[in-house]
This record gives sequence, C-alpha cells and structure tokens, in this order.
Amino acid sequence: MLEESASDFISDFIAEDLKNGRFGYVHTRFPPEPNGWLHIGHCKAFYIDFSMAERFKGKCNLRFDDTNPEKEDVSYVEAIKRDVKWMGYDWEDREFYASDYYEYLYDLAVKIIRKGHAYVDDLTDEEMSEYRGTAVADKNNITNTPPGRNSPYRDRSIEENLDLLARMRAGEFPDGAKTLRAKIDMTHPNLLLRDPVMYRIRRETHYRTGNTWCIYPMYDFQHPLSDAKEGITHSLCSLEYEIHRPLYEWFINEAEVFPSRQIEFARLNITHTVLSKRWLLKLVQEKYVSGWDDPRMPTIAGLRRRGYTPEAIRSFISQIGVAKTDSMVDIAFLEYCLREDLNRKSPRVMAVLRPLRLIIDNWAPGAVTELEAVNNPEDPAAGTRKLRFSRELWIERDDFEEVPPPKYFRLFPGNSVRLRYGYIVTCTAFDKDTAGNITAVHCTYDPETRGGNAPDNRKVKGTIHWLSAEDAVPIEVRVYDHLFAVERPMDVAPGRTFLDNINPNSLETVSNAYGEKGLATAAAGDRFQFERLGYFVRDPDTSVTGAPVFNKTVGLRDTWAKALSKRREL
Ligand code: ATP
Ligand code: MG
Repeated sequence: MLEESASDFISDFIAEDLKNGRFGYVHTRFPPEPNGWLHIGHCKAFYIDFSMAERFKGKCNLRFDDTNPEKEDVSYVEAIKRDVKWMGYDWEDREFYASDYYEYLYDLAVKIIRKGHAYVDDLTDEEMSEYRGTAVADKNNITNTPPGRNSPYRDRSIEENLDLLARMRAGEFPDGAKTLRAKIDMTHPNLLLRDPVMYRIRRETHYRTGNTWCIYPMYDFQHPLSDAKEGITHSLCSLEYEIHRPLYEWFINEAEVFPSRQIEFARLNITHTVLSKRWLLKLVQEKYVSGWDDPRMPTIAGLRRRGYTPEAIRSFISQIGVAKTDSMVDIAFLEYCLREDLNRKSPRVMAVLRPLRLIIDNWAPGAVTELEAVNNPEDPAAGTRKLRFSRELWIERDDFEEVPPPKYFRLFPGNSVRLRYGYIVTCTAFDKDTAGNITAVHCTYDPETRGGNAPDNRKVKGTIHWLSAEDAVPIEVRVYDHLFAVERPMDVAPGRTFLDNINPNSLETVSNAYGEKGLATAAAGDRFQFERLGYFVRDPDTSVTGAPVFNKTVGLRDTWAKALSKRREL
C-alpha cells in the first residue's frame, strides 16, 4: 500500500458522526456532471462513495449534477451509467438528477430572499468581479485580498427582490442582465463568500427540462441543497472543493435543510496523462485521439477498450489509498496492477507482429503434425490446445540476426533455438533480396526434441514463438505509448499548452501481423497474452483489409518493480 490504508480518515469521520449521533445512518452520492465521459479519477471518487456506503451499511446515490445546459447531454448520461456499471457498482433505483430539483431549489432561493439574505443584482459580470476584487501578490509574494465593495443593488427590499426573481424566471430580462446573489460579506477573505451568484439568466435548452427554465442555479447553491434533498449524510468530493465548504454550510444553514456534511479527499493524478474532463474534451474535439474511448485515453471507456479489467482498476484504486494531500501516482503502478490481473486470466496464444519466413528444410513438404500447447500456465483448468506445425513458419523479424550482438540467444547462422511447444531448430542459411533485406531463414529440425523433450546434450538458451504459415490468420495490431511524453503534461512553459506535450508516436499500427487461427473468431473485448509480446485485446474495429484488430494492452515486462526500488511515489 502506498498511502494510508483503505481504513482512512474519511471512515474515521463517518464513524465518529455515527457515534456522536450527528447522523443515524450513512448515505453518500456520486455526482458526475454529464458533460463528458468518466475518467479514472472519477473511479477513485465513486470507489470511495460506494465503498463508504457499503462499509457502513448505507446507500449510495448516482446523481447527475446537470445544471449547466450548454455543456450537458443525454449521451453523456448514458456513457456514465454504462461505465459505472462496468466498474461493478450498482446504484439500484437511486438515480437522480439535479435538474429534477429546479422547483425545490427555486423555493429555497425565495426562502433565503425572505430572510433578507439574497438579492437581485444588476451588475454585469465584469462589474461584479471588479466589485468583488481579486487576490493580489505583494512584493514578498504573499497573497492578500483587499476587501470588495458592496453592489449598489445590495439593499433592495425583500419585496423588490421577490418580484425581480419571479420576473427573471418569467423571462422578462435578457441573458446576463440580472443575477440572484447571496448576501454574505463583500469583505470576506475567501472570495467565494463575497456574495456568490445563486442564479443566472441563460436561454439555453436543457437536455431534460427543455425550455422550461431560463434561469439556472449555480453549483455552490444547488449542490449542498441537492445533497440535503436526498438526505446525503456525507458529501465526499475532491480537494478543490475545500474552499467551497464554508459556502456549502452557509446554504444548508440559510435554507434550513438536512445538514449534509462535505468531506474532501485528494484528487487522483497519474503521470503521462491528464485527468480533467475539460482537457480530455479538448483532445477529443481537436482530434488528437479518435474519441472518448480511444485506447490511449484515461477514460473508463478508453481503458476498457485498451484491455483493462474492472478488477485491475479497482485494485489500483484501493491500493493507492485515500489521503488528504494531492499526489502524483506513477502510471507504471497502474500497469503493474493490470499485469497482475491479466496474468491470472489471459489465455496464451502466439502471434507474430513483424513476420519473417522460416523454412525447415528437412521437414517434408506438405507434412503436418499437431503439437500440444498450454492455454494458461496460471490456470490448469484452461486446458490445452493443438497447434499445427509444418515446413514453413512465421517467426518474429527480430528473432533472427545475421550478425548476432553480444548475449543474443535467438537465431543466427549456426545457432539453435527451441520453437515454443515444438522442436529445436538450427539455423543453416538465410535468403536476401536484391535490396539486402532478409526474406527467409533456413533451419533443420531435430525430431528427438519434440514438445519440450531434449536429450541432455541438446539444451538451448533461447525459445522463440512461431506460427505455421499455412494456418496463421492476418491480424492488425495497434501498439500504444503514453499519450504524453512527459510525466506531468500540465507543467508547461509560458506560452505553451499541455497539447505541446503530446507524444507524436503514441500509436503505431502494425497492419501485416499474424496470429493463431483462433484469433480470427475472437469477440471484441476478448483478452489474450501473445506469448513473449504482452497482453492484447480484440478491438471492435476491423482493419481495411477485413482483418481483426488487436490493441496492445500492456507489455510483459514489469517496469513498476524496477521503478519501485527507485521511488515509491513521485
Ligand atoms: P473534471 O475536472 O474531470 O471535469 P469534475 O470535478 O469537474 O472533474 P464531475 O463530474 O463534477 O467532474 O466530478 C464528479 C465527482 O468526481 C466529483 O465529486 C469530483 O470531486 C470527483 N473527481 C473528479 N475528478 C477527480 C479526480 N481526478 N480524482 C478524484 N476525484 C475526482
Ligand atoms: Mg465538477
């Protein structure tokens, strides 16, 4: 475990609240805004929401926080539900929408106006921020915030405010002409408490409420009150909401509703990627990737298409733990969790990515034998399969060298290797075309060495994988690298953006690969270990020539174990 264990500060708070009677039960919620697809950072959030509910025998709601009509869409709602389900969580019938609470929220706004604690303002956005003031750094770089000024509309009467809000709702004023603001304190050191906006006028069609409303509630006003409406006891969210907490409590108190409690935890950050829907949307819109589910994306859909399992992601999330300070997790650790899971589950097959013809000169043309191969050494129940062996095979181009480098134990003239599950072969010659490319390698085989048997004097140092040329099926393989070449893509020099850190070589398409016959009928999402090459998954795509496409999920080599000895966390 890298940080604190899963029994963390959040469960301590909750246990205490139950013990001292602040709450008699536990009810959490996961509140995504349907303005993009979920990423692995959200997995951390809903893992915490659902597991706290489970631990304290409570419930967890799924609530769509849909109060920004310009960016939200029903397609995002569908994607979010599918991805949370795929991760193994069930909100049962507790699916809610903040947009269902518009009437309730409006009534609470009226209540707050009646208490004299909210007013309708006519200042423009620019004027409002000028009145609010901004934090400035002095010469010692200490930020201080000079007090703001009251709006000239701040002292409108309760009646006037009630009338104006009703007319805002009725559509009497143009967009941006008026806002409803909470009357808190224009000199408060926390800028968020300087009379925050509760409602703005915006003529936008909402994907659920259509044109019923032309005023929309702001996050800081609606979120605590939506929590309260659902009787949420613990409103768990990431650390950037910490400075919003006083406001969360202010609205709960003013509206006199159920006293939900906000608790913050550290956001998940992972090296070589970005975890913010805003940036991910940019990658999609500007076509740096093929879509939200591009296998290089850190979205749940991208990870799924890449071949990740929900179990591997959950294991990762539970092991990084829940802390109160932001940290950066090495992506190699995520890959380590993935490999652990795939190693147990994946059937082994052979595939050749860069084929080179191997001819066994002492094998009779047309003769075929069947060899037995183990499907998964980690899982005896997975059984065995038969592999056809014939005179012409495919081997990996880099398993042959005309002039071997030091410590090269694969094929070169005069050297012998074992063909996995088959025979020991000895390289006798090779063919070259006029351009000097090696076109075929010639070998002889030793019949005594079939299927792992070998006389004592016939031990060899290298084993290579192969396919029978008459039996192999063409496949396309997509090999990925990190989407961002640098560990922290958001750290950029002035004048540059995270897009400048994109890795131009993050996708390599290998279109002339071959695989065992069984791969031809693999269904999208089927996972395999290609022996010696890594873990691969069948993509929903087919190549231009009709061949099935496989994504490389992750290599076999464990870079994490190595990294672990250097540093546990960045
Ligand atoms: P993003 O920055 O990706 O758009 P968001 O907070 O705006 O994230 P929401 O849909 O509002 O997106 O997020 C739903 C919940 O997920 C929130 O409670 C938020 O705190 C949490 N969350 C979002 N990103 C992360 C992250 N990287 N790590 C942990 N929790 C996160
Ligand atoms: Mg948000």
